Amino acid sequence: METKQIGNQTINIYHYNTVIVGAGAAGMNCAVHLYEFMSQKGVDNPQERIAVITAGIGLGASRMSGSDKQTYYKMGTSPDVADSAEEFAKSLTAAGCCHGDLALAEAIGSLREFYHLVQVGVPFPIDSKGSFIGYKTDHDPSERATSAGPKTSKFMTECLQKQLGRYGVRIYDGQEVAHLLVIGSGESRRIVGVITIDKKGIDKSNYAINVYLGANIVLAAGGPGELYKTSVYPKGQLGIHGLAFKAGLIGANLTESQFGLASTKFRWNVSGTYMQAIPRILSTDANGKDEREFLTDFFPSMSKMATNIFLKGYQWPFDPQRIENLQSSLIDILVFNETQKGRRVFMDFLHNPIGNDLMKDFDINDLEPEAFEYLKKTGAFQTTPIERLAHMNPLAIEIYKENGIDLYSEPLEIAVCAQHNNGGFAVNRWWQSNIPHTFVIGEMAGTHGVKRPGGSALNAGQVGGLRAAEYIVNVYGCDLPDYSDKQSKIDRNLSQFITRLEQCQSSSGLVPEEVMEQIQSRMTASAGHTRELNDAQQALKEAVKLYRDIQQQGFKLDSPKHIIKAIQAEHLALASVGYLKAIVELLEQGSGSRGSHLVLAEDGIEIHPDIVNRVTGEAMRFKPENESLRNSILQIEYDSSLPDLFRCRNIEIRPAPTDRKAFEPAWQDYREGKIYS
Ligand SMILES: Cc1cc2nc3c(=O)[nH]c(=O)nc-3n(C[C@H](O)[C@H](O)[C@H](O)COP(=O)(O)OP(=O)(O)OC[C@H]3O[C@@H](n4cnc5c(N)ncnc54)[C@H](O)[C@@H]3O)c2cc1C
Repeated sequence: METKQIGNQTINIYHYNTVIVGAGAAGMNCAVHLYEFMSQKGVDNPQERIAVITAGIGLGASRMSGSDKQTYYKMGTSPDVADSAEEFAKSLTAAGCCHGDLALAEAIGSLREFYHLVQVGVPFPIDSKGSFIGYKTDHDPSERATSAGPKTSKFMTECLQKQLGRYGVRIYDGQEVAHLLVIGSGESRRIVGVITIDKKGIDKSNYAINVYLGANIVLAAGGPGELYKTSVYPKGQLGIHGLAFKAGLIGANLTESQFGLASTKFRWNVSGTYMQAIPRILSTDANGKDEREFLTDFFPSMSKMATNIFLKGYQWPFDPQRIENLQSSLIDILVFNETQKGRRVFMDFLHNPIGNDLMKDFDINDLEPEAFEYLKKTGAFQTTPIERLAHMNPLAIEIYKENGIDLYSEPLEIAVCAQHNNGGFAVNRWWQSNIPHTFVIGEMAGTHGVKRPGGSALNAGQVGGLRAAEYIVNVYGCDLPDYSDKQSKIDRNLSQFITRLEQCQSSSGLVPEEVMEQIQSRMTASAGHTRELNDAQQALKEAVKLYRDIQQQGFKLDSPKHIIKAIQAEHLALASVGYLKAIVELLEQGSGSRGSHLVLAEDGIEIHPDIVNRVTGEAMRFKPENESLRNSILQIEYDSSLPDLFRCRNIEIRPAPTDRKAFEPAWQDYREGKIYS
C-alpha cells in the first residue's frame, strides 16, 4: 500500500492483480477460484494478488436473504434419473431472451461448482447411499433443486469466507464503492481501479479514500435492491449499477425483475412450505382491525382456493401466465389489489383458510390431487397450518423466531415484493463485460432470461466466478498492474473525484434520504410487477429530472459521514433512469406481460371486474406476451448527451454451441489455450 496526497486528501492506494467488488456468494467464490488457479500454476503468494472489497461482509442478498428452504438449482444428482447439460440449458432458456452459450456454460459448470461448495463445507444433505438429495421445482423431472435449509446462501458465503481465510486472501470490509476509475475511451477503455470510502475512517477533514488498482476487476456487487420501496432484498443492498453504467458497461434484460410474496417486517420469501402448509390469508385495515377473507370473492370453492395457496409454494414468482383460469399468481394480484386499497395482508398459520357462505369448510381431503398427494407423501395431514409447517420444515419457523416473529402467536404481514433481477450487465461466455479485463458475476451479471428456474441464480453466480477466474489466470496472467504510463490520468481522475465530492455539497442541495425515497416509490409504482406505457414514460421523465437536479444542485449534508448517502443516492438515481429507460423501450416495442410483470392495456384481458387499475380506476386488463421478442435481448448503454441518458438496442440471442471435437484436437485446443479465444 502507498499513500498519496491529492488536494487536502491523503489517499491509500493498493495494487492487486484482481480486485473483486462484493463479498456475496459470487464474489467470494471467484476469489477462492482465483487463489486455487494461481497456486496450481505455481504463482508465488496468490493471496497477495487478490482482494475482495465490500460495503459490509454481513450485507448483501447471499448473507441476509432466503426462504423456507433456499434453493440451489444444479444438474440432477438422482441415482435413477438421467440429466444432461443440454437439457439443463434448455430449462434456463425456455422462456426466451437468454443466451444459449451462457446457459450451456452454467449447465456444464453446475456440478463442478456444486461439489466445490460441498468441499468447502456447505451442508447439502445426502442420503445413506451418499446421493445428494434433491426435490422437484415446477416441471423439473430431474429433481435438480437442493437446499441446505433456509440459509443456503448464507452458509455458502460463510464457508467460502473461511476458505479465503485459510488461503490468507484479504477482505476489505466497510468500503463503500464511490467510483470506478476509467482510463481511455472506445476500444481502449479500461476500468483500472475502484475508489472506495472507508465508512469508519471518514471525518471532518478526511474522506477516508482508498483506491484499489487492479489489472482485472470483477464486479460482484449484487442486485440493485434499494431501488424499490416494496422489496424483500435485504436493507442496505444497494449494488453499483449506476457506477457501472457511468463506467461504460452495457446493461442487458434489465426489464426482467422478479416479484413475489414475501414478509415485510422481517424481509423473507414466503415460498415453499410456508404456502404448502396452506395458511389462512386475510386482510385488515391499516390498524390491523376489520379482518376479511378477501380471497373468497374470487375463487369458486374452498378446494380451488386452498389448492392455489398450496401451489404458490413452488410457483413462487409472480407469473402473468399463471393468472387466467384461477391459477396461483391470481393470489399475488389479489394481495396487491388489497394493499392498493390501503389494507394490510397477513398469513395466519394458526387457522386453516376460512371460506364464505357458499364454500365448504377447509378439508385436506378436498384438495386437488397435486396438493393432496404432496401432503400425503410428506405426511403433512396435521390439523392446523402451523402443525403442518412444523412437521414439514421446523427451520422455517425458527428463522422467524430468530428475527423476533413467533408464527405460533402472530400473523405474518406480506406484500408483493421486488426480489431479484434476472437482467444485469452483458457478459460473454467467460463472464467478461464489454470492457476487457472487467468481469461481472452473480446477480449483477445479466445472464438469465425472462424466466429462470428457482435456485438457478445461485448456480449462475458460482459458475460465473469460476469462468471469470479461469480466464483471468490463463489469459491475462497473475501479475500486479503497472500503470506507471497512466499515472497522470489516474491522478487527474482522482482529483476530479475529490472535486466532485466537494462540489456536490451545497446548503441549498437535495436531501439524500428524500432522493432515495422518491426513487423507491417511483420504481415500486411504475417499474414493479404491473407496468403501463404512459405511466412508465412519465416516471422516466421524472427520474431523468431528478438525476439532472442532483448534478446541478448537489446535496445538503448535515455531517461528513453523510457524503456516503449522497454518493449512494446519486448512483441509485442513475440506475433508476437506466431501468426505467429499458422498461419504456420494451413497452414501446410492443412487449406484453412476461417473466414476472404484467403489462396493463385498456384493450387487454380483464382479470376480474373488482380488480382495478390504480391509474384509470377501471377494471385491470393486461396484454399477453409478445412472443416475437423472445429471440432478442434489450441492451442499454449510458450516454450523457442523450435526453434520456441511455441508448437502447436489441441484440439477437447467441445460440448454445453444438460443435463437438474428438478428444485429441480438443486436447490440443486446451493445451494451446485456444479454448479462451
Ligand atoms: C429473499 C430472497 C430469497 C432468495 N432465494 C433464492 C433462492 O432460493 N435461490 C436462488 O438461487 N436465489 C435466491 N435469491 C437470489 C440470490 O440470493 C441472489 O441473487 C444472490 O445471493 C446474489 O449473490 P451475489 O454474490 O451476486 O450478491 P450479494 O450476495 O447481494 O452480495 C453483494 C455484495 O456486494 C456488496 N455491495 C453491494 N453494494 C455495494 C456498494 N455500493 N459498495 C460496496 N459494496 C457493495 C454487498 O455488501 C455484498 O458484499 C433470493 C434473493 C432474495 C432477496
